[in-house]
Amino acid sequence: MTWTQRPVMVRGARLVDPGEGLDEVGDCLVADGRIRALGGRGDADGAQVIEAEGLWLVPGLVDPHVHLREPGLTHKEDIATGARAAVAGGFVAVAAMPNTRPVVDSPELITYVRMRSDAVGLCRVLPVGAITRGQAGRELAQIGDMAAAGAVALSDDGQGVQSAGMMRCALRYASAFGLPLLLHEQDDTLAGDGVVHEGAVATRLGLAGQPREAEEAMVLRDVHLVERNGGRIHLCHLSTAGAVQVVREAKARGLRVSAEVTPHHLLLTDEAARGYDTRAKCNPPLRTDGDRRALVDGLVDGTIDCIATDHAPHTDDEKEGDFVSAAFGISGLETALALVLTHLVDSGRLSPAALVERMSFGPCRVLGLCRHRLREGAVANLTLIDPGVRWTVEPQRFHSRGHATPFAGARLKGRSRGVFVDGRWMAS
Ligand SMILES: [Zn+2]
Repeated sequence: MTWTQRPVMVRGARLVDPGEGLDEVGDCLVADGRIRALGGRGDADGAQVIEAEGLWLVPGLVDPHVHLREPGLTHKEDIATGARAAVAGGFVAVAAMPNTRPVVDSPELITYVRMRSDAVGLCRVLPVGAITRGQAGRELAQIGDMAAAGAVALSDDGQGVQSAGMMRCALRYASAFGLPLLLHEQDDTLAGDGVVHEGAVATRLGLAGQPREAEEAMVLRDVHLVERNGGRIHLCHLSTAGAVQVVREAKARGLRVSAEVTPHHLLLTDEAARGYDTRAKCNPPLRTDGDRRALVDGLVDGTIDCIATDHAPHTDDEKEGDFVSAAFGISGLETALALVLTHLVDSGRLSPAALVERMSFGPCRVLGLCRHRLREGAVANLTLIDPGVRWTVEPQRFHSRGHATPFAGARLKGRSRGVFVDGRWMAS
């Protein structure tokens, strides 16, 4: 991976930005961090030229949900390896969840993540602070101080906020500081020790299951709390048809509720765990084909605002062994775009413009970032996509330290060729 600050001319790409009503073939010249010329045939004028015929240049992709494991769990991943994986996957910015060791629950740790992101100098790594101190669910974290230090959102991701009273407090505090709550909706009394979806596959494998209600009960609770108290919630990694329907109805009532879905929940079912394949062990679990289709429908009709990877790297050791003790989580940054291109865009379910909506604009809106755009004068945060290249997922070649993916060996069509992050070109 290389980057340069020389002017760069992207020559003859399909320029797609639904926010600007743009879908045409032309050039894009980036210099001094900004888009200097756009459309038509420009003069390269000493710039590095990237021949981009047949490629798409789009507003930079953003992943609103990754686990980069730093501080403290850097045997799994760190900000450098995670940011490299993000750039390889076509992302210009990622939101890093705070379930590290220690938990990111103070302004000092928010500053630490920001400084590491700057020092690494790849994509932007945006710190998410914890909702509760130590993510223990008992008292609020230093929300105001973390907001001042640059937290973009708050989350106890990895687990649900079990106490409704605590969630109500968090909603009121967070909205005072303009921060969204990114919610992992899981009622532990319903999820129990479940390691897969509660259903026929769990029964066949003899594994404890998590029922859909573990997610849906908490989604209903939190939508109701927003209805009564105001504030803004974003529901992480939806997994059930019922949860999609609750979000659809909440939006129809005008509530400030947004949602995301992962590529694995869009494309796989609990059948992926047959043979006790720990690569398919994730939380929330993969569910049935009915749930899967409802998630795709929700993504297509806009009920679900964004695609998020929930990139959750672990060491190979932690993902091997028996199904019950293996870690939950899938390494997702380096396959997400290609999976979406192969299974949703190539098949016509999502247009290229809709891909931009769900993988750039939606995440920017959730995280309170300025929308990335293809417009002269704008800061260049862009992704260059090769929609036609065919490749095979080989996890041992990932930049991420996490190699566990149920998509290992998959034949995919399309991937990122590189990104501009604040005007700096980095080949994927
Ligand atoms: Zn989660």
